[in-house]
Amino acid sequence: MKYDYVIAGAGCAGLSLLYRILCDHQLSNKRILVIDKDEKDKNDRTWCYWEEGKGLFEHVVAHQWPTLRFTNTEFTKECHLQKYRYKMIKGLDFYNYVKAFAKGFSNVQFSKEAIQSLKMEGKLCKIRTKKNSYEADYVFNSTGLFHPEMSEENTLLQHFEGWVIKTDKPQFDSSIGTLMDFSLEQTHGTTFMYVLPTSETEALVEYTLFSPSTLEKEEYSRMLKEYIKDTLNIENYQIKHTEFGIIPMSLAEFAPVVQGHERILNIGTAGGNTKASTGYTFQFVQKYTSQIVEQLLKNEYPAPKLSFNQKKFKWYDRTLLQVLIDKKMDGKSIFSSMFKKIDAEDILSFLANESSPLLDLKIMSSVPTLPFLVSGFKQLR
Ligand SMILES: Cc1cc2nc3c(=O)[nH]c(=O)nc-3n(C[C@H](O)[C@H](O)[C@H](O)COP(=O)(O)OP(=O)(O)OC[C@H]3O[C@@H](n4cnc5c(N)ncnc54)[C@H](O)[C@@H]3O)c2cc1C
Repeated sequence: MKYDYVIAGAGCAGLSLLYRILCDHQLSNKRILVIDKDEKDKNDRTWCYWEEGKGLFEHVVAHQWPTLRFTNTEFTKECHLQKYRYKMIKGLDFYNYVKAFAKGFSNVQFSKEAIQSLKMEGKLCKIRTKKNSYEADYVFNSTGLFHPEMSEENTLLQHFEGWVIKTDKPQFDSSIGTLMDFSLEQTHGTTFMYVLPTSETEALVEYTLFSPSTLEKEEYSRMLKEYIKDTLNIENYQIKHTEFGIIPMSLAEFAPVVQGHERILNIGTAGGNTKASTGYTFQFVQKYTSQIVEQLLKNEYPAPKLSFNQKKFKWYDRTLLQVLIDKKMDGKSIFSSMFKKIDAEDILSFLANESSPLLDLKIMSSVPTLPFLVSGFKQLR
């Protein structure tokens, strides 16, 4: 069976791209096959991100925060956002929303199977699963089939366990999201808590670390219990939902195009859309998939090239990660230094690759220069 596009992987990137294609009347009649090994019927993750105004997936935003808090043992800063809103989307709401929308298109098919290989033969892409084989003009791949090799030398893991807790009496201010609480022991590496309340009695509390390896399962639970009791001062609560995740924060090159197979294009984490120094991916997937659609509409090769500005931000990003990997400075000191001197909204703008050169300089001068210079040069080589 031959398709215009095969979308390999129906997670954040695959379904974002599908939705954007179907929203455009010039592309919405393309024959599309979406393949995923999973049903995508579980709330397997929660995405938080920030953007200006209303985004394409506003319908499924579960909550948004106009104020963000940063805290450590020495100071607490709150920032009332002007331009951005910090938003949360539940994975299952997103999957259901896009799949329900796609049901209205008879030219779109879904198949639940594991892809075994993706390659080009002549001008066509060949997709092979255990039972079937398909052909397509283009494959947009977000599976891990082409992930680069990662090691302790070039990669940190962002690993976390999050609990959605429900308290028996009002405990939270749902207008304030704690982006980072660094008042924790930093024994294993960069360690902080997110506290994202969605009502007076409900919040996502997430114990997050950047380090070379994960911890024993019980350690995440122990730290969450301790934090909820001792820092949030909450005794009685129910755990409504748990999630565990590992996001690679890597200097390895996630290639946007599969080498030697120029019509197999990687998207999402596989395509380098994960910001190496923070793990944030959702907003970069949105920008990337929207660029892909623009190029498809212009009948241009749909692998967006990095602009000069994007290359600059990639270099900043890799420099920050190199500092963390080489332990030239720890994450707590870097982020504390930044948040102490700079407005959180400006930091968000920098981390979203949307800051001006002047702001970039201001942010760079908020952290000690030497470790960043050394790592910056290392990244230029
Ligand atoms: C628990 C968790 C929480 C996160 N929270 C945030 C957050 O708050 N903000 C943020 O910006 N980022 C977050 N991330 C990081 C990132 O946004 C997500 O990992 C995001 O889902 C990446 O999108 P993706 O499309 O690249 O990969 P995925 O969403 O993982 O999609 C890949 C898909 O490919 C499928 N697949 C894999 N192999 C095969 C195969 N061989 N055959 C067929 N299908 C296959 C998988 O089943 C999956 O559905 C989080 C990650 C996790 C794990």
